[in-house]
Amino acid sequence: MMEEPVEDSGYVHSIVTGGTVDGPGMRFVIFTTGCPLRCLFCHNPDTRNLKDGKLFTAAELVEDATRYADFMKRTGGGVTVTGGEPLFQQDFVTAIFKGCKARGFHTALDTSGYLGKMTKNELLDVTDLVLLDIKSFDPETYRRVTGMNLQTTLDFAERLAAIGKPMWVRCVIVPGLTDDLPTLERLAAYLKTLGNVEKIEILPFHKMGEPKWKALGYDYKLTDTPEPSAESIEKTRALFRAHGFVVI
Ligand code: SF4
Repeated sequence: MMEEPVEDSGYVHSIVTGGTVDGPGMRFVIFTTGCPLRCLFCHNPDTRNLKDGKLFTAAELVEDATRYADFMKRTGGGVTVTGGEPLFQQDFVTAIFKGCKARGFHTALDTSGYLGKMTKNELLDVTDLVLLDIKSFDPETYRRVTGMNLQTTLDFAERLAAIGKPMWVRCVIVPGLTDDLPTLERLAAYLKTLGNVEKIEILPFHKMGEPKWKALGYDYKLTDTPEPSAESIEKTRALFRAHGFVVI
């Protein structure tokens, strides 16, 4: 019989300790399940369905993270919740982050922002940093890549800007889809107007998730899409640097 959630519990796909790519320092990274987007390049398609995760309570996760407290503090790290789409289970994430803040841990939320409109201030109050994935700045491409509309994510970015919430913006560069330099140029100019973007992460598309798509019986459409060249990634990073951003 399927386990049913109790208060402050939620579905988790996996936990990675010592992660260095989802926020500053060394991190305790929680991958939640459930995601309304269908990104063509998703490398975690096995996080798509909420109930494919395993139930944990927020207290269990905070307790687990506490074992790495010294390590996190020494490296300026903390706890990141990613997915999937963490906002799919916002009350659960809020409970995790409240527990983290009570123990002095830095908290980062990695999200597409698609559920930003229904996100409560209560969660943002205990979130130190938002890692916002902007899959494309062109509405049509955004829809092609994710199946959803871009504006919702931009509305969330503007809400975060209005409250001065620190934000890192992540862009996956896929040849022929999201590598269009004029579009990236417009994105950079837009982000500059927000005032809360601390860093830009340019992530080269890779196909490491493809075997998972196949194993799940999903149709992977990017088999013939090449990975971007080092030169194209460097050009993209230079474009954002030219707007005064710190780029990684
Ligand atoms: S938002 Fe993330 S988890 Fe969801 S489909 Fe896109 S890449 Fe995958």
